[in-house]
Amino acid sequence: MERLGYYNGTFGPLDEMTVPMNDRVCWFGDGVYDAQPCRNYHIFALDEHVDRFFRSAAALKIEIPVTKDELKDLLNSLVQKMDTGDLFLYYQVTRGTGPRKHFFIDAPANLWVTITPAGKYDGITPIKLITTEDTRFFHCNVKTLNLIPSVMAAQKAEEAGCAEAVFYRPGERVTEGAHSNIHILKNGTLYTAPTDNLILPGIARAHLLRACEALGIPVKEEAFHLSDLFDADEIIVTSSSQLCRHACEVDGKPAGCKAPELYSKIQTYLIDEFERETR
Ligand code: PLP
Repeated sequence: MERLGYYNGTFGPLDEMTVPMNDRVCWFGDGVYDAQPCRNYHIFALDEHVDRFFRSAAALKIEIPVTKDELKDLLNSLVQKMDTGDLFLYYQVTRGTGPRKHFFIDAPANLWVTITPAGKYDGITPIKLITTEDTRFFHCNVKTLNLIPSVMAAQKAEEAGCAEAVFYRPGERVTEGAHSNIHILKNGTLYTAPTDNLILPGIARAHLLRACEALGIPVKEEAFHLSDLFDADEIIVTSSSQLCRHACEVDGKPAGCKAPELYSKIQTYLIDEFERETR
């Protein structure tokens, strides 16, 4: 199959799948998700993503209708049905099906999976960024389906010809990207926002921190600001789908790309790890 959809035990070609109109995701976006790449039919960092998926669901008091091991088995078996092994996996759980009542309903949660061909990864060309105020709520550590501010920010980036929008909060503290984590290199040290309720604890971010540790690059998990972003030696953007990229322009002004050798060391480490684990 080229593009697969799964819903509560039924699966088929994604474009032919339908879901009940009163799944609570339609009323409230009442659910959580996770997403990750797969190469050569090997799902990368499966344990880490499934653990985060269960943490997100627990934060919303949603009981996932399968165990972690059952979910991993399901994902591995669905991947085997695909025409290619280079894939993007997306899965979500929603708080069941029922009438539009804000309080919880007494219904089992719904499990969705989509599997589509992997997008292209261009790790060579530096990307452009725009900045935009972070008007999201204070639960950004939970991977909920409520993504409207991220959608608006991503569209703003798209219209500006940029690959990503960088969110900042009052005081111009940089939080993260619309669908990525943002880090800077300055004088040989990596700075990254701490994992509080203002950012998603990215799996690619965790791999980046481990890469820095292995390469002897000091890491500071502390808030940094827009002025630091503009002044950075390198601006690094991480996400599971796009691994690790660096930016050369922010809001139309040159920024970053001043320590290409150090950046390249980190990126090579991460790509090697990804390729080794999905050989
Ligand atoms: N931050 C946000 C808001 C995201 O949506 C994502 C990915 O979707 C990330 C960070 C990066 O997370 P990960 O590295 O787990 O893909």
